[in-house]
Amino acid sequence: MIADKPINLMLVEDERVVAFDLKNQLQSLGYRVGAMVGSGEQAVRQVADVAPDLVLMDIHLEGDMDGVEAATEIQARHRIPVIYLTAFAEDDTLRRALDSRPFGYLVKPWDVRELHASIQMALARREVEVAVERSELRLKLALEAAALGVFEWQPGQPRSPGDGGTAAVFGEGSLVAEGDREASFLARVNPDDRERVAAGLQAALLSDDARRIEFRTARDNGEPHYIEAHVKAHASRPVRRVVGVLQDVTERHKIEERLRQSSVVFHTAAEAILIADGERRVCAVNPAFTRITAYNEAEARGFDVDVLLRIQRGEQGSAAFFAELAANPDGYWQGEVICRRRGGEPFPAWQSLSVVHDAQGRVGNYVIAFSDVSEMHVVEEKLHHLAHHDPLTGLPNRLLFDDRIEQTIELARRSQQHCLLLFLDLDSFKVVNDTLGHVVGDELLRIVAGRLRGALRGTDTIARLGGDEFVVLTGSSSPEYAAELAGKILQTVSAPIRLGREGITVSGSIGIAVYPEDGGDRHALMRAADIAMYSAKAAGRNRYQFYSPEMAERSNERLNLEQGLRRAIEEDQLLLHYQPQVELADGRIVGVEALVRWNHPQHGMIPPVRFIPVAEESGVIDSLGRWVLERACREVAGLRQRSGEQLRLAVNVSAREFMREDFIASVLATLAQTGFPAAALELEITESTLQTIERSMEILAALKQHGIAVSIDDFGTGYSSLSVLRDLPIDRIKIDRSFIIHLPERREGMAIIEAIVALASSLGMEIIVEGIERREQATLLLGLGCGGGQGYLFSRPVPHPQLLDLLAGTD
Ligand code: C2E
Ligand code: MG
Ligand code: MG
Repeated sequence: MIADKPINLMLVEDERVVAFDLKNQLQSLGYRVGAMVGSGEQAVRQVADVAPDLVLMDIHLEGDMDGVEAATEIQARHRIPVIYLTAFAEDDTLRRALDSRPFGYLVKPWDVRELHASIQMALARREVEVAVERSELRLKLALEAAALGVFEWQPGQPRSPGDGGTAAVFGEGSLVAEGDREASFLARVNPDDRERVAAGLQAALLSDDARRIEFRTARDNGEPHYIEAHVKAHASRPVRRVVGVLQDVTERHKIEERLRQSSVVFHTAAEAILIADGERRVCAVNPAFTRITAYNEAEARGFDVDVLLRIQRGEQGSAAFFAELAANPDGYWQGEVICRRRGGEPFPAWQSLSVVHDAQGRVGNYVIAFSDVSEMHVVEEKLHHLAHHDPLTGLPNRLLFDDRIEQTIELARRSQQHCLLLFLDLDSFKVVNDTLGHVVGDELLRIVAGRLRGALRGTDTIARLGGDEFVVLTGSSSPEYAAELAGKILQTVSAPIRLGREGITVSGSIGIAVYPEDGGDRHALMRAADIAMYSAKAAGRNRYQFYSPEMAERSNERLNLEQGLRRAIEEDQLLLHYQPQVELADGRIVGVEALVRWNHPQHGMIPPVRFIPVAEESGVIDSLGRWVLERACREVAGLRQRSGEQLRLAVNVSAREFMREDFIASVLATLAQTGFPAAALELEITESTLQTIERSMEILAALKQHGIAVSIDDFGTGYSSLSVLRDLPIDRIKIDRSFIIHLPERREGMAIIEAIVALASSLGMEIIVEGIERREQATLLLGLGCGGGQGYLFSRPVPHPQLLDLLAGTD
């Protein structure tokens, strides 16, 4: 008796007498015989129900199943110990019995005490076995729970003994055939790691320390599979081995990898990143944060984020803002805030805020990323400026101006006030641009823009609309102010400009329109100012004019003129009249001035004052001028003074023609074609042509070289001082009609005429006076020393046939 409970036995014996005898013996020993069966089949069938502690089994049994077979089955299925009782002990039976791992083998006849001892031994052994089984099961469960595999390694041994879940750890699962399970441990290691692992195992084998070895598996099903082995040498006899556990650390590896990547992102990001705890206290900052704010991590740590960066989160304040953010399921916010750097300097920051919740759903951290967007703001401002300003002069462009004018008009409308628009166009800017090039033209515009800016009040707006057109908008409702401003602008524009070697003088023409009289909206007002500007140009330039309704009519006409002019040359509607130029002393005709006329099919004869400015503006003047010179040369060639000399021919030349690069070549070509002698040709240029450009000096010199004379037309109406003439190779001065118009009644002009005469004679220049209508004037001028004259007194400009009559003296 080992336990309090009687030990339950099962007897398997086909000889009933023997069986009963045995039962008696056993019962007398204190055992309980729970069952007594006569065949192997019966034993196997009943053993589960009987659940004996031990089976006593006869080997030779009647029936298909002998004792060894039945015992084997019982052992395997129920793990119940079996003791054989037999009369036989031949080698063959013994061997078979051994394979079934019996707990005892008694050969008949046996002693009762021997039987009792065998039963007790068997039960004790079984008890130990059960304990080992339990502990193994515990270990197995523990390994399974920890997803660990066990392995053993010993050098030179290709197969690993035992498995312990290794295949599962290697992620091989069903991929591995049963036979493969004991493949060499090293064969399962990724070839790239194999050498290192082998070295690690070898090292472990030689030392007593535990080691950790990490490696990738040979089969990875696509993505790398990481295993960690903890190994230690085991000094079992006869060979020393390495024993260890394996663990699949792929997941951990992935997380570590991701953490490593995140850490790199954190450290190298250009954006400042800050991690704060649930109370918004800074825990960590990245280098970009330090770069942007100048706070290092030690300085920032522990501070409330918004306090540190001095961020104002609107009216609600930071606490409410973050509370709302934390309550939001997304927990995300993005926007611009103003932060301050360590030194106090504010900067705009584009922030992204994220709430990180912990496993319990509480706010664990705030992650705040931001970038300094001040540069972006600067760029934005620049873009905005670019879009609204003229890149050449920096003045507002049309877009911005349109906006301003709308606002100003709206303001004036509401307050029932006026506002004024000035439209400025530079005179002869095209000449500068065409002759001196765009670089000089651009520079000129820049200088003019600068001067304009200086002339304005702070409340006035100026813009460049393109080309040489500028507009000024003034909220002032006083026309006097507009007139004063226009005068100031004209004055500042016409001050001489030095551009490299060139000295240039330009002037401007200004049109002024008043809201609401001249236009009720932006478009109408601009049109009115534009028309007034053209009117100022037509009236002789370098002046301003207020808009009047009649101007609109004229402006229309001007447009028609421009289109008609182009056709006029082709359709031969132009013709020349000639006005004689005489010697005041005796009235002899010494020359003629060619004056162009336009015989318009509908409007009749149009005087040049109406279409020459249009031709100049539109560029038609080039072909017109060529036509005039050629026609005049042809018609006047061969006409003689009374002395027999070739009659002198004066032809008017516009500034634009004169400055043209090919001007001299074209004049010479015409002379050659028509056979007109260069010495009898005189080109009339105006004072303003000389003023515009110093380059006229070169042209004048070249003309002189070819023997072509030059006279200054309308002298005295421009700004040039008499001293300018000193340096110029001019042959004749034509004193303007305005100086003599009131002679002899009013004598104011006489002093000037005297001065001009004195200067001219000292410079060897001749004088001719224009517009002499009365005999007294001629006499007076002769007395003052003027040599030549031209005017209605002698003859009006006449068509070619009449000129011939005049010359023949038949008229
Ligand atoms: P301009 O060269 O000063 O020509 C003189 C103008 O005065 C002419 O006017 C002429 O008819 C006018 N005139 C002459 N004598 C008298 C007078 O005693 N009393 C008055 N009241 N007027 C007199 P026109 O022909 O109408 O020409 C006007 C301007 O047109 C010219 O002034 C000239 O600058 C320009 N012009 C004429 N023909 C041409 C041309 O072929 N080419 C260019 N570029 N300009 C021309
Ligand atoms: Mg003239
Ligand atoms: Mg003149």
